[in-house]
Amino acid sequence: MSYIRLLILIGVLIWLWGCGRTEPLMPPGLEETSAHGQQLVWEQYLGQASALTPDVYWQDSTCTSQSGLLGVLLPDRSTCVGGYFIHTINGIFLPAQVSNRLSDTGFAHEHIHAWLWVYGISDPKHERPEWTKMQTEMDVLLRNEGL
Ligand SMILES: [Zn+2]
Repeated sequence: MSYIRLLILIGVLIWLWGCGRTEPLMPPGLEETSAHGQQLVWEQYLGQASALTPDVYWQDSTCTSQSGLLGVLLPDRSTCVGGYFIHTINGIFLPAQVSNRLSDTGFAHEHIHAWLWVYGISDPKHERPEWTKMQTEMDVLLRNEGL
């Protein structure tokens, strides 16, 4: 095999490897951190069964939200937000590059959306009285664990 063919083969293999990657960019350890954080906020704080734990999808941050922080676009690509919850798949979507600390992200906030949905409650405008107290307490719980 000639040197040029070898280089082309290596290039094709690298290209194929790149195409096969489907996982979003994620700071090291964020997946484990998420699992620990979910035990704290979902099971311990909210008292929910682990079987109902929402999936967390850390997405590439592709935009800047109104609050000036990195965000993710809603599925219809209309709005940049700090995170969102889709009840039909019990999935939470958060921007990966904001911080390694869950308490700096919308992690707790989106888990409150998921928790409300367990009871069939959708509160997209955050009008229920629980929001401020719960979100603050959950973030403190996470921070106390270094998350
Ligand atoms: Zn919200």
